[in-house]
Amino acid sequence: MSLAPVRGCVVLRPYGYGLWERLVAELDARFKATGHENAYFPLLIPESLLVREQQHVEGFAPEVAWVTQGGGEPLAERLAIRPTSEVTIMTMYAKWVQSYRDLPLLINQWANVVRWEKRTRPFLRTLEFLWQEGHTAHASATEAAEEVQRMLGVYADVAENVAAVPVYAGEKSESERFAGALHTFSIEALMPDGRALQAGTSHEFGQNFARAYGIEFSAEDQTLQHAWTTSWGMSWRMLGGMMMVHGDDRGLRIPPKLAPVEVVIVPIHKGESGEVRAAARELQQRLAGAGFRVRLDEREQSPGWKFNEWEMRGVPVRIELGARDLAAGAVTVVRRDRAFKEEGQKTTVPLEDTPLRLRALLDEIQRSLFAQAKAFLESHTIAARDRETFVRLLRERAGMIEIPWCELAACEAAVKEATSATTRNVRRPARGPTCVACGEPAKAQAYFAQSY
Ligand SMILES: [Zn+2]
Repeated sequence: MSLAPVRGCVVLRPYGYGLWERLVAELDARFKATGHENAYFPLLIPESLLVREQQHVEGFAPEVAWVTQGGGEPLAERLAIRPTSEVTIMTMYAKWVQSYRDLPLLINQWANVVRWEKRTRPFLRTLEFLWQEGHTAHASATEAAEEVQRMLGVYADVAENVAAVPVYAGEKSESERFAGALHTFSIEALMPDGRALQAGTSHEFGQNFARAYGIEFSAEDQTLQHAWTTSWGMSWRMLGGMMMVHGDDRGLRIPPKLAPVEVVIVPIHKGESGEVRAAARELQQRLAGAGFRVRLDEREQSPGWKFNEWEMRGVPVRIELGARDLAAGAVTVVRRDRAFKEEGQKTTVPLEDTPLRLRALLDEIQRSLFAQAKAFLESHTIAARDRETFVRLLRERAGMIEIPWCELAACEAAVKEATSATTRNVRRPARGPTCVACGEPAKAQAYFAQSY
């Protein structure tokens, strides 16, 4: 990743884009397995469309970039660059839905969006970012609510089992809700500096958008009804979170399932060694044939230079192949999840067994990275029992601070004022009778934290 020649934007170089492609592949397969299809809608939104859902437009107005001129002429109507696509997609759904037989509509879009953030941060908060936005319309509230939970589950699955980032899934408080939603659910991860990162959201809109954009259908009982809609999104921010959670002082550590390169082969030879080169190429072909994402590094640089570079890039496994290894019919396998010279970092594997051993090793690395991150999250999730401790832990940025909470906006605002921390999400029921922050009756169990 590099900074772009425009403020607040980044350039993904091929390796970074390879990470994004892996995330896309894993999400996309799950979207399709749950009945969704991909489609594409325009980047620009006429202002008159955007303003129809009042809460939605108020929520997004400060972040919208506008196009006011085209072809050298001022435009009769300003066009928003999409910050999200509810309004365009709901407008189209209104044309596509007449009967309950047209429902559900289960569509996902892979797209870029622009949000004019005042403060940006590479990968975590950029003016333009890549994401997916799912938009669905249903014939009943129950079906829509199920959809929202199903997709929240997909996000938690991808975060934990692909990116190896453990998360807390729950509902956002009223003040943290998506503009125009009845309920917003999120997954929240914890970064090594004690800040929380929202990594995916799923929203239940009830009939709000269907009323604003006219999505009406005749139900089975012949009555005319508004559809129930949802939306859900995950962006490349998930990758930023993954890099922070797993990185160490030598650079990135990429979980195998997300790695564009799972294994790199570095041949070691002084001068020309046809035998070593040939063996390395043969191994690469064998591994590629067995389905591994494998790279053979035949560049001119020294082996040590290559080791450093691939370690920095976080490739899960490096295979070193030299004349001595070859004579012994073996390769040296080095795992990136272990520290330098740590027990088990380097092992010797018979050349013949490499594919089998590699599969097992990659699975083990995937599990080990998740276990390390999970241990960190658990040791930095702290139940506060009194207000004083609660405030101190939040100020110290000690992690996810858990309390029985009243769900009152005034209480949340007071905590934010005192500590700059916010509610991340809540689960029901509360595990105590009164709110630790203010003493009112508790309604839910909440995670508070500083956040990005
Ligand atoms: Zn309270």
